[in-house]
Amino acid sequence: MTRLSNITVLGTGVLGSQIAFQTAFSGFDVVAWDVDDAALEAAKVRFRKLADRYIREDFQGSAGGKAEAALGRLRYTADLSHAAKDADLVIEAVPEQLELKRDLYARLGAVAPEKTIFATNSSTLLPSKLMDATGRPDRLLALHFANEIWKFNVGEVMGTESTSPAVYDTVVEFARDMGMVPIEIKKEKAGYVLNSLLVPFLNAAGELLVDGIADPETIDKTWRIATGSPSGPFQIYDVIGLMTPYNVALADPRPKSQAFAKLLKEEYIDKGKLGVATGEGFYSYRKRE
Ligand code: NAD
Repeated sequence: MTRLSNITVLGTGVLGSQIAFQTAFSGFDVVAWDVDDAALEAAKVRFRKLADRYIREDFQGSAGGKAEAALGRLRYTADLSHAAKDADLVIEAVPEQLELKRDLYARLGAVAPEKTIFATNSSTLLPSKLMDATGRPDRLLALHFANEIWKFNVGEVMGTESTSPAVYDTVVEFARDMGMVPIEIKKEKAGYVLNSLLVPFLNAAGELLVDGIADPETIDKTWRIATGSPSGPFQIYDVIGLMTPYNVALADPRPKSQAFAKLLKEEYIDKGKLGVATGEGFYSYRKRE
């Protein structure tokens, strides 16, 4: 099986920065590509914050210099040919828009060497919608991470009918080497495994709330006690942040979704309660004075 060593990450936003940093942390040389110098400057700030977070949590001995060493394995460029030049694997984490991604894959396919494997981190766009844009459909698949990838370390690996089995196996191995637990998905499936389970679960909790069946604390408590799970659905909403579920509910015309969007907006978002990141959502995370 091919061992990968030069990894390029396209897009250094929320997920791309985590993917690039965790990959460098695991000992790979990483090229971080973004659209321009301003985006790369923002990336450097994100990487520094990630290093500080790893050190604070002493994640796998980060405090002993491992996180600083990871920073040293990251290189930066806004030039796509340069980013792709020697890439064994390109992981793409650019905005969730089909045409934007396809355009990038077409440009990438024209400059990447023959050996390059292409992996998308897209949450909602199936890899089969992207594969022909590279000109090498057998070398494209999805490698999907969960936010805060070092903690919630699943790497869902999902190919298309055209993905070469050798490419698939190589990416499964890479996911393991960069600290993920590889989740091997046998067929294309919107939502992968994780979101196929999580989204209906969270929607059901939202419905119980808007129908006035029970309050968030009661719903969460039921789930925790009866299943042994550490978190209930509203605790999970708070971790995700309430803006994403709000936008998803708003885009769904069903009356219950609209009612949930209204509740999220009026009771939480308009009051600055966006979840854990802002110190309050369904629950308060502020330290007592
Ligand atoms: P983000 O908006 O935080 O980052 C996107 C990055 O892409 C930015 O650095 C931006 O500069 C760059 N970029 C590259 N080409 C661009 C272009 N043409 N126009 C604008 N920006 C461009 O996005 P994100 O949340 O990191 O999501 C990126 C991908 O990861 C998406 O496909 C998303 O579905 C997936 N994903 C996100 C999460 C999450 O929790 N945020 C989780 C799993 C997967």
